[in-house]
Amino acid sequence: MAVSDAARAAGFIEKTAELTVAAGAAPGGASLVGLTRDQLKDSLAAIGVPERELKMRVAQLWHWIYFRGARDFAEMTNMGKELRAKLAAAYTLARPQVVSEQVSKDGTRKWLIRMASTGPLDKGAEIECVYIPETDRGTLCVSSQVGCTLTCSFCHTGTQRLVRNLTSAEIVAQLIVARDAIGDWPGATPPEGAFVPNDGGRFVSNIVFMGMGEPLYNTDNVVTAIEVMSDGEGLTLSRRRITVSTSGVVPQMERLGAEANTMLAISLHAVRDELRDELVPINRKYDIAQLLDACRAYPGLSNARRITFEYVMLKGVNDSDADARKLVQLLKGIPAKINLIPFNPWPGSKYECSDWERIERFSEIVYRAGYASPVRTPRGRDILAACGQLKSETEKLRARARMMAEQGIGAEGVYAVGNGE
Ligand code: SAH
Ligand code: SF4
Repeated sequence: MAVSDAARAAGFIEKTAELTVAAGAAPGGASLVGLTRDQLKDSLAAIGVPERELKMRVAQLWHWIYFRGARDFAEMTNMGKELRAKLAAAYTLARPQVVSEQVSKDGTRKWLIRMASTGPLDKGAEIECVYIPETDRGTLCVSSQVGCTLTCSFCHTGTQRLVRNLTSAEIVAQLIVARDAIGDWPGATPPEGAFVPNDGGRFVSNIVFMGMGEPLYNTDNVVTAIEVMSDGEGLTLSRRRITVSTSGVVPQMERLGAEANTMLAISLHAVRDELRDELVPINRKYDIAQLLDACRAYPGLSNARRITFEYVMLKGVNDSDADARKLVQLLKGIPAKINLIPFNPWPGSKYECSDWERIERFSEIVYRAGYASPVRTPRGRDILAACGQLKSETEKLRARARMMAEQGIGAEGVYAVGNGE
């Protein structure tokens, strides 16, 4: 296993991975989908669009790609034929490929998405993305990495050995894929029988970074993706409806607040360092006290803008009355919401979910202390789409990735991490 020196010094095991790849090239040219305004500008300049036109052309592309969901340059009728032909010769509007879609009894949808290949030996990394419709909102749970370098003991993603960061375009593309699939563009309609919100708003109204990966180990790309997703002339998601969930990468929290200004969720899961060290091993690097200090410093907190603390209910591990009392005591003074998450088992997991009566009792103590403590109803359990159950098919690429690593060509592809089995 590759272990960084810093991690070793902290006595904390962290898988390492080569974490950056260039935006993937789709057949027939690179896709413009997911790019920032600056990247679009460079793409236009590269095919000879004159400097004086660039701003206007970027605005036009932006509108077609992000407001209308265009899939073909031919639709872009306010651009000249010649330019459209040039664009089509050099680029595509291809989305990452949807390998499979599963629809739960409760309307939740899970997509397995294959990203464009990053080199001759890369078949394309696969990630999962989940759509959770309710009557008054539609939440998209996006991934920020392929797998996760952290190894929280109750999380399926943490057992995945292949890890790389997603580019900002790959993060944005998840929203585009979701909007395509549920007909969330002007003039489009949802598929027959689909469950979508009926309050007249967008079908995807909220984004949570609670899919695969630790978003604050990929802060640059996450912040850039949020810029694109929240742009008022394109995808128009409100930053207040975007939540970034972190296991506690303390040094990056301030940056997230300053640059992305989204809502924050913390995967707390334990109230004593000894236990949190085991459940959420990054705690050995940044302990509970440091984590809560960083929470207190998060900009813009108020009663209307609270931090969500996630707490997974593990039978006999973290679910006692004393744990509940300690939890409310720890959070004193922080505008907070507490989300109790029933543990979602996965094949081979060593924990069980707390009994219902225990969860109710825990919730009661938290409630009496003044916190609304909704127990998050697991959604999409029948399709293994619930929190912490995502683990992609990319695992199958392990042998290939090992080969790439051995040949020293991993920097442009996917790395194998793990115990070298
Ligand atoms: N890496 C980030 C975001 C992804 S995980 C983080 O850890 O915050 C999203 C949430 O699901 C986290 O709170 C995580 O701790 C929780 N989770 C992971 N595995 C789970 C499981 N098996 N059952 C319930 N929740 C789980
Ligand atoms: Fe990674 Fe979050 Fe899973 Fe921990 S809970 S292993 S940080 S995805």
